Amino acid sequence: MLEKMVGVRESMETPGSQTSLHRANLERVVRAVRMAGSLTQAEIARSTGLSAATVSNIVRELKDGGTVEVTPTSAGGRRARSVSLSGDAGIVIGVDFGHTHLRVAVGNLAHQVLAEESEPMDVDASAAEGFGRAERLVKRLIETTGISPDKVIGVGLGVPGPIDVESGTLGSTSILPGWTGINPSEELAGRLGVPVYVDNDANLGALGELVWGSGRGVKDLAYIKVASGVGAGLVIDGHIYRGPGGTAGEIGHITLDESGPVCRCGNRGCLETFTAARYVLPLLQPSHGPDLTMERVVQLARGGDPGCRRVIGDVGRHIGSGVANLCNLLNPSRVVLGGSLAEAGELVLAPIRDSVSRYAIPSAARQLSVLPGALGGRAEVLGALALVLSEMGDSTLLESARSTATPVFT
Ligand SMILES: [Zn+2]
Repeated sequence: MLEKMVGVRESMETPGSQTSLHRANLERVVRAVRMAGSLTQAEIARSTGLSAATVSNIVRELKDGGTVEVTPTSAGGRRARSVSLSGDAGIVIGVDFGHTHLRVAVGNLAHQVLAEESEPMDVDASAAEGFGRAERLVKRLIETTGISPDKVIGVGLGVPGPIDVESGTLGSTSILPGWTGINPSEELAGRLGVPVYVDNDANLGALGELVWGSGRGVKDLAYIKVASGVGAGLVIDGHIYRGPGGTAGEIGHITLDESGPVCRCGNRGCLETFTAARYVLPLLQPSHGPDLTMERVVQLARGGDPGCRRVIGDVGRHIGSGVANLCNLLNPSRVVLGGSLAEAGELVLAPIRDSVSRYAIPSAARQLSVLPGALGGRAEVLGALALVLSEMGDSTLLESARSTATPVFT
């Protein structure tokens, strides 16, 4: 209904007229603040390209309409005004299905996380059971915030596998056998009655670190996650790059050794066959026992265990080869390592940097920094919140501003 009203009004506005220009400027300001959390007016001017006077007028209009809140702050020792979306303008939900857990977060549009909880779950068991539990946890967490469910603007949903862009279904049978052919977005939207935006875990990790973590302030970023597979979430010029088939970032299947082990993709010697747990743990099991996990290997390496250090270092070296290829192709300014491997710190990061300097062309690697993720296991669920913030559009927010404020033409 709202979309329709906006459509009708927009069709009455002539492109290039004062009104449509004003509307476009409002949207630019709201979008900048929506993704950044809070910005000073000078920062809004810089990121939107609007003049200081225009930004000042627009912020006043949005504040009068209740869309944004303005609080005094200081920037570079000078007094400034910090602008964020109004905390009670709406709430967003993040749901992250991992291989062994379900995590849900509730946040507001000012980037504050109001409630968050995770519970163990065997995601391979059944999709219906997974969605049932997600629905119950979402409803319970909204209740704990005391905010009305009507305020929910949308849900971001993370799944541990590639989504087919055209059908919106999970296509990979080898990763989530119980979920093949399921449309996760429709399934959860049907249960919760709000729009649901879905993406894979690597892309959401990238978004989470970009908005809340180690990627803040950069526009070109690769988030590398080593878990049961190896994937990368790619942010190019501030936007997630998915590719037409939704499979961009599959660096786990870069060939490192043509005569290496056979990978689940059917090729040989993929990066994944030198870095994923099921290939790495067997190297240590004869000397360290059969019950080893990657988390334990990282822990032992940090404690000085030479075998675990060697293995983590080799994993870093191989990831670095993949990252070097990525640098030559995309020239990101930052690579963020996520997942539990990041807890190995310099034990894994230094070998990654070594390989990058060895294999990437110098100009592609010169501005690169390789950092551990700042969000740990929360990266994906916070990325799911960021996905809603990035996809929600501004119509809902601007309706209230229009209805209550006197337009200031700029
Ligand atoms: Zn492969």
